Amino acid sequence: MGIAENIEALKRDIPEHVRIVLAAKTRSPEEVAEAVAAGVTDIGENYVQEAERLRQALGSTADTLTWHMIGHLQSNKAGKALAVFDVIQTVDSLKLARHLGRRADRKVPVFIEINSGREPQKAGVVPEKAEALVRGISGLGQVEVQGLMTMGPLTGHAEDARPCFRETKQLFDHLAGLALPDVDLRFLSMGMSDSYRVAVEEGSNMIRPGTVVFGPRSS
Ligand SMILES: *Cc1c(COP(=O)(O)O)cnc(C)c1O
Repeated sequence: MGIAENIEALKRDIPEHVRIVLAAKTRSPEEVAEAVAAGVTDIGENYVQEAERLRQALGSTADTLTWHMIGHLQSNKAGKALAVFDVIQTVDSLKLARHLGRRADRKVPVFIEINSGREPQKAGVVPEKAEALVRGISGLGQVEVQGLMTMGPLTGHAEDARPCFRETKQLFDHLAGLALPDVDLRFLSMGMSDSYRVAVEEGSNMIRPGTVVFGPRSS
């Protein structure tokens, strides 16, 4: 099947309120343009430079899309990231949030990345430290927390991620209930190609598929 058909099939498979952020890493501008022509409005990229190149290749179309940083971001790249991305989904430290706020010429929408599998080598803040981080960001002024993002363990079995998705949804509800300034939790970004069904069952309203739309990555 082609990219447009894959997107149609994906949309039929999820409720209408679930937003699709297309994970574009390693894909060509032509492939991404095909997806955009088929109705994709949100692009996720893992690296600042790759997103820069893709934006350039897409020309004026790029400005009609919403760009999400979904890869790990170093504090010293905060300024560059803000020039390319609309949303930073991977904030996991007060330091990074401060750097973003300092370099922002607008209120920056961010998501908190949750290390829901509590995997030591993984990015993200562990669930029990998320509230302290959100409270810290809530006083900065230039940053607005709009969502949580999580990967969950990548074992190849989506069911293994279910408890992590469930806990992240509980955390989402808890943090939303605190009603903190500059915290307006609306997006729960969980689910990739092999896990989006489980993620949506557990309350995700934003999925980040790549492979299911484009086919397997060659690199
Ligand atoms: C690569 C990637 C995805 C998409 O993964 P697929 O398995 O290709 O759907 C989603 N989120 C993040 C953070 C990624 O790095």
